[in-house]
Amino acid sequence: MATQEPDASPRWDTSAAALGHDRPDVAAYAALASDLRERVDGEVQFDEYAQVLYATDGSIYRAKPAGVVCPRDVDDVVAAHEVAADHDVPVLPRGTGSSLAGQAVGPGCVVLDMSRHMDDIVAVDADAREATVQPGVVQDHLDARLAEDGLKFAPDPASSGRATVVGGIGNNSTGAHSVRYGITDAYTEELEVVLADGTRIHTREVVLGSDEHEAIIDGGGVEAELYRTVEGLVRDNADEIAEKYPNLKRSVSGYNLHKVIYETDDGEEAINLSKLFVGAEGTLGTVVEATVSLVSKPAETALALYCFDDLVDAMEAVPVALEYPVSAVELMDDEVFRLARESTEYAQYEEPIPDGTAAALMLEWDSELVDDFEAAVADTTAEFVDAGAAFDVLEAYSDEAQGKLWKLRKAAIPLLMSLEGDPKPYPFIEDATVPPEELAAYVQEFEDVLEAHGTSAAYFAHAGSGTLHIRPILNLKDGEGIETMHSITDDVTDLVLDHFGAFSGEHGDGLARTEFNPKMYGPQLWGAFQDLKSAFDPDWRMNPGKVVYVDGDTAADRGYPESAADTDMRENLRYGAEYHSIEPQTALDFDDEGGFSHLVELCNGCGTCRETEGDVMCPTYRASGEEIQATRGRANMLRAAISGELPEEELHSERFQEEVLGLCVGCKGCMSDCPTGVDLAKLKAEVKHEHHEREGAGLRERLFADVDVASRVGSALAPVANAATKLPGARTAMERTLGIAAERDLPTFTRDTFRKRFARRGGAAVSAAEADARVVLFPDTYTDYSMPDAGMAAVEVLEAANVHVRVPDDLAASGRAAFSTGFVEKARDRAAANVETLAPFVEEGYAVVFVEPSDAVMFQDEYRDLLDGDAVEAVSAASYGVLEYVDTHRLDEAMAFREDPETGEPLAYHGHCNQKAVNTDHHAVGVLRRAGYDVDPLDTTCCGMAGSFGYEAEHYDLSKAIGSMLFETHDESRAEAITAPGASCRSQLGDREEASGQPPHPVEKVAAALER
Ligand SMILES: Cc1cc2nc3c(=O)[nH]c(=O)nc-3n(C[C@H](O)[C@H](O)[C@H](O)COP(=O)(O)OP(=O)(O)OC[C@H]3O[C@@H](n4cnc5c(N)ncnc54)[C@H](O)[C@@H]3O)c2cc1C
Ligand code: SF4
Ligand code: SF4
Repeated sequence: MATQEPDASPRWDTSAAALGHDRPDVAAYAALASDLRERVDGEVQFDEYAQVLYATDGSIYRAKPAGVVCPRDVDDVVAAHEVAADHDVPVLPRGTGSSLAGQAVGPGCVVLDMSRHMDDIVAVDADAREATVQPGVVQDHLDARLAEDGLKFAPDPASSGRATVVGGIGNNSTGAHSVRYGITDAYTEELEVVLADGTRIHTREVVLGSDEHEAIIDGGGVEAELYRTVEGLVRDNADEIAEKYPNLKRSVSGYNLHKVIYETDDGEEAINLSKLFVGAEGTLGTVVEATVSLVSKPAETALALYCFDDLVDAMEAVPVALEYPVSAVELMDDEVFRLARESTEYAQYEEPIPDGTAAALMLEWDSELVDDFEAAVADTTAEFVDAGAAFDVLEAYSDEAQGKLWKLRKAAIPLLMSLEGDPKPYPFIEDATVPPEELAAYVQEFEDVLEAHGTSAAYFAHAGSGTLHIRPILNLKDGEGIETMHSITDDVTDLVLDHFGAFSGEHGDGLARTEFNPKMYGPQLWGAFQDLKSAFDPDWRMNPGKVVYVDGDTAADRGYPESAADTDMRENLRYGAEYHSIEPQTALDFDDEGGFSHLVELCNGCGTCRETEGDVMCPTYRASGEEIQATRGRANMLRAAISGELPEEELHSERFQEEVLGLCVGCKGCMSDCPTGVDLAKLKAEVKHEHHEREGAGLRERLFADVDVASRVGSALAPVANAATKLPGARTAMERTLGIAAERDLPTFTRDTFRKRFARRGGAAVSAAEADARVVLFPDTYTDYSMPDAGMAAVEVLEAANVHVRVPDDLAASGRAAFSTGFVEKARDRAAANVETLAPFVEEGYAVVFVEPSDAVMFQDEYRDLLDGDAVEAVSAASYGVLEYVDTHRLDEAMAFREDPETGEPLAYHGHCNQKAVNTDHHAVGVLRRAGYDVDPLDTTCCGMAGSFGYEAEHYDLSKAIGSMLFETHDESRAEAITAPGASCRSQLGDREEASGQPPHPVEKVAAALER
């Protein structure tokens, strides 16, 4: 298979002519946009940025919409549908856009982003076990509220941290526990829906022949017609429905004709049109409110992982496992284990897996199904291990042990998607489903299909319900690869039918599988699907091309729009044979990421960067809720820019620099939290650098890049320099001339710098000869000129562990400020100077220790992108944050700590996002605890200051909005006192209205706890 090399372009030449890419067409939709703006209160975005941002979801597809509307309420939704109908333009309702089959993208559509404003939990009725939500409510947010009542929404897609409940209704989503709970259609009770022409309907269970039913039919109009049509379609096709819908726990291909009429618990026959909207992928109407039923949340669970030396043996064990009262049966194969073993992040979770495990089945039990977990595990162990099918078992009862096994299971997709190079394990038949008893034969035949097409795949996921996530490795930038994808899909869909399965058991039809639906359902039901679609959406305007289509000639005969005709899985691909991107000559080293363009293209649209709880990524999205301010938005914009989808000079325009890159705070959260490691901070530094080279840089940018120089001057002139900034009118003048926010207190400088204080006390108190260890303590700009107490505390702590401390006078600033503002060459000069000075120390056995976390990480990470050679590797490897150094070497064991009420009091800890990105943030918490503090580590993202960002006038509001998330988390903590290692974070916390000054650095707290 040929791998397409990106075009090498030293000049970032992104002209479309060079790259052969189509561009957004804004002018064609000007009248539509104008009419929408008149009628809709929410945002109406119809420029080329919006068209790029909403052209992709979590799938392999890309289709440029007409534009985006973010409705504020139902009236907005109705208005948007009416205006779109007037202009005869299709409509695509969208939640988070995490779909894997392309159902959340649509060419030329008006996208309704329901996630932006319509995200209220309307009501929770714990007694009735029901919740009513607006369409933008994220599932985990609903579950967090329901947990207060011991309830949960049963379907649990792995994407529940950002996916909306109603997006899950659109796709008929489900997760690992479908064995126990089934899928979304079982829990969708009532819906408020806006149809294509703006008509509103309320769907719910209606007993056929009841007064309510008769009233609807007698009422006439659209609703009566829909009830009549649906009932007629179900009755007329009863035999085909019985024959063609597979008997599976999960089958989400096509429309739910088999579920819309059913027998109630009272034995009556009822119709519920809500069930049709589940899995309809937005093709029948837009849901504006949903009432779902709930289940109780089991108090406890247990896991057992059975290890097999053969994949087929594991598959044969699945139906046997289902005879036991299990709540999940999940599969992982040796390819998943191999990738985890090679990954720094996941290797720890793979470690307990015994050698020779070709496949493992993970069984879960919950406390509502069994009373005695150990007895339940003993039963299945007797079945599998004692009888010789499996050769080992790992049991997990604690939350921690279970969490580790689930981490390993859920690592499969991120691990696969981070594979280097263009061939990638793409989703297109990744959720085909067969009855569990067919799995063994199905897997063997699937292997044959892959072999015949010269590719391979990993096998994992929901074996208990017959759904295996199999993603063949293909290059979709290559015409041959695209044809192979189509051919594999053709063969696998045949195979699935041979084994009585469904083409999609979880992720839906979208653009990937709709083409094959006629094969699954046959001509009669396919015709019924077309009639159903026509009844709800006569002009085929709702998300066309998904679930159902009409062949080209028939569509024309019936007067349907072009979009109703045919769907081909090979069209609208995100990449495709025409795709080219430039590979510019970069100032930073992108070898580890496979190049600049590869790093950009690693974004697969999964949407994890839109999660708002836990981890760091992405503070700007969390504060703004705007797609362009998520890592995904930025990566999509960069991909469009380097592939010629945006105009040639757009990347270097002020708008791109500000809206796409300028609002990224460079926290590095995405480097570790994005499952594929899209490191936006690094991409931003590179593009900003190129921008400075081409356009020059402004005064404020240069001032911030040289903050060390400004601080040195400020310190030399202190206290006059400090007083000057407090003079009346000084701040306003600074905002006008330099763009520095007038609301901010500027850092104050001291003449009595850290280096002077260290020298005055006679330098090191522990001589090099007598010391147990030796360090260079890096006098960073903030510690030296503004916060010397933290530096002196670090010296005290290190010396308490008998460490010899040197503070050289000839070090340059770390270059962090220059790097973050895109002055890469300046950062490189400083890095080179520091490495030259420090390498001899390191060779002599010194470590390099930092009070300021962002500088520590600069040495540990960015220096290796700036410089080559053994010296930088050695200095980088010897660099530590001060408490990271203490913890790594367990130096606190040699220290004596006081025992008094102050150290015992609760202390909140806000870690630094840069250290979280390189997984070194936990060290400070360990040391503080051992020093006697009752530490509450806050689950916080970036503080919002991010070096200079929070001082910039145009970023002040966003900086404060990000900061307020930190303040809220602190307010919820049991600890009033707080500590934070980052100088920026301490300024942000100190700037809080109710704050009485800046909090201390954690090393100051450790120093305060030392026995004196
Ligand atoms: C890494 C990863 C893991 C995943 N794991 C799972 C999993 O375990 N199980 C699973 O089922 N899925 C999974 N998915 C797929 C996807 O996340 C889910 O289907 C999710 O429920 C979709 O929610 P969303 O808010 O992103 O919807 P979107 O993608 O925005 O939309 C989904 C569909 O619903 C329609 N829709 C959205 N809002 C409305 C509305 N208001 N009215 C009518 N139609 C609407 C859209 O048009 C679209 O067709 C995964 C995806 C990724 C990237
Ligand atoms: S940036 Fe990362 S987390 Fe966000 S959508 Fe892309 S791959 Fe997913
Ligand atoms: S560096 Fe931080 S702000 Fe920028 S995209 Fe990544 S997570 Fe978001």
